[in-house]
Amino acid sequence: MKEDNKLDISVVVPLYNEAESLPELCAWIERVMNENGFSYEILFVNDGSTDESWSVIKNLSTKNPAVHGICFSRNYGKSPALNTGFGAAKGDVVITMDADLQDSPDEIPELYRMITEDGYDLVSGWKKKRYDPLSKTIPTKLFNATARKVSGIKNLHDFNCGLKAYKNKVVKHIEVYGDMHRYIPYLAKNAGFDKIGEKVVHHQARKYGTTKFGLDRFVNGYLDLGTLWFQTKFGIKPMHLFGLLGSLMFVLGFLAVLVVLILKIVAMNSDTFDFYVTNSVYFYLALACMVMGLQFFLTGFIGELITRNSPERNNYQISEKF
Ligand code: UDP
Ligand code: MG
Repeated sequence: MKEDNKLDISVVVPLYNEAESLPELCAWIERVMNENGFSYEILFVNDGSTDESWSVIKNLSTKNPAVHGICFSRNYGKSPALNTGFGAAKGDVVITMDADLQDSPDEIPELYRMITEDGYDLVSGWKKKRYDPLSKTIPTKLFNATARKVSGIKNLHDFNCGLKAYKNKVVKHIEVYGDMHRYIPYLAKNAGFDKIGEKVVHHQARKYGTTKFGLDRFVNGYLDLGTLWFQTKFGIKPMHLFGLLGSLMFVLGFLAVLVVLILKIVAMNSDTFDFYVTNSVYFYLALACMVMGLQFFLTGFIGELITRNSPERNNYQISEKF
């Protein structure tokens, strides 16, 4: 017998204006759970929908006590919705899926098995055969190739798949903010959870409603990847980057000053060679390099002060202790 508050699975569903899909999705999840005998909860996180979504969720919860809802007062985005769902999830295994019926609940039992038996910290879905427009699938390929390279998670083909499974402790130790839901495997890896697997999942075309992300997803996606890369490499030691850049600039600037000085001395001792410091390109190079070098150093110092004050600075993931 399970303890009362122990659950096998929490299904977290972030949603924004998906009223038509919800009853079908909920019934499908319930069917899969019952067929497999899982104890479960379904957490619908309503991300400030302006349609009927919230009343549909309330209605679903009256029919099934395993259905829970969290309602944002406005639209914050998919990452905040996931993060809030993660905070509330009680199940041993946490499964996220999109609300638009593009992800299939039939994948749940195998995802659960991969986490509990194969020992993965995180298993990400891979929409090997996608039912999305070409304008989305081609940039997505590029995006995933870059993400693989930067994150060092070489075995993932589809970072941004909405269907993923996690050990409970993984979701409690990552913070998904901004638009970082695209990089949850990278966040998990940085938090010390590196058993990351992949499962080919079935994908369908959107049945109701429209996509909530425009083409700006690719621009923002790349910018976020840059931020994450920087945070991972230099997050708690920003001086290592800025100090290096600053020193480089100072060396360049110093060399330029040296050239100016030598030319000036030569000119002073010569009757034929004239040299005006302010006419020389090296003079301006020296000026620019020194100013930039100083800026890099100051940025580094400010960065160090900020990390010193971060409450996270001494949070390390300890896997074993005795
Ligand atoms: N979503 C959300 N908040 C938003 C945008 C999207 O909760 O601001 C949800 C959306 O309702 C869906 C999931 O995130 O359940 C994925 O969105 P969508 O299907 O539009 O993305 P796509 O499949 O086109 O990548
Ligand atoms: Mg979708």
